[in-house]
Amino acid sequence: MLEGKIVITCACTGAETTKAQNPALPITAEEMAQTAYEARQAGAAILHLHVRDAAGKPTQDPKVFKRAIELIRARTDIVVEITTGGAVGDTPEERLAPVMELEPEMASLDCGTVNFGNDYIVNTLPVMRQFAAEFRAHKVRATLECFDLGHVYSSAILLKEGLIEAPLHYGFVLNVPGAVPFSLANLEAFLAPLPAGSNWTVMGIGRASLPAQYAAIARGGWIRVGFEDNVYYSKGVLAKSNAELVERAARLAKEAGLTPASPDDVRKELKLRA
Ligand code: ZN
Repeated sequence: MLEGKIVITCACTGAETTKAQNPALPITAEEMAQTAYEARQAGAAILHLHVRDAAGKPTQDPKVFKRAIELIRARTDIVVEITTGGAVGDTPEERLAPVMELEPEMASLDCGTVNFGNDYIVNTLPVMRQFAAEFRAHKVRATLECFDLGHVYSSAILLKEGLIEAPLHYGFVLNVPGAVPFSLANLEAFLAPLPAGSNWTVMGIGRASLPAQYAAIARGGWIRVGFEDNVYYSKGVLAKSNAELVERAARLAKEAGLTPASPDDVRKELKLRA
């Protein structure tokens, strides 16, 4: 575990957030590279990346990811974690394409099926096995994203079958409408079955963002902030930028005696491919 340090992830864009919700949402590769640089300066160690096509719609096209990652790499050493959740309705093959073609250091691996507002995210166990096998083949470290308690147990099946291995990193996505609300009791339920030595990030969607950050600090987890999860700085006040949210997360961590971890700390802790 990272003694005295805390990892901050910036989820800068997401699949669902729009410029209408926050005009500072980064959409183009250039905007994402600038955001990555600013987020790193503010204390983020990981950038969680979704990309958009020319019309601003979410895409899993590896070419679009490639260009964004190249521009990000030219600006900062931040760890890039790409999504394989994609957007609602993408096929598993579309979602996996950038992992197989680009072999990023990290990617998200959704660990089950869940309501997502009025939509739903589908991940059967066979699909999860397919994802885990490709991640392993391409040496991409998974963030095991759990939206529901059953997802934690589904990931344990992958572990038992040898499809994933330590060091493990979980991402708990709480407060998605139709799924599990954020509360300390719910967070504890997700933590109880984790294998010893696992690292975890808790992301509180919308108004749960700030309470989730305090919970991570208090409970030894990692933080995720950014416009994918929440576009507000405070009630009714839009965040000026993703970096503004990272800056506050870093400030909270420092007040609690923790140092924001560096990208190289993450690379060492999660044994990312060199
Ligand atoms: Zn995402």
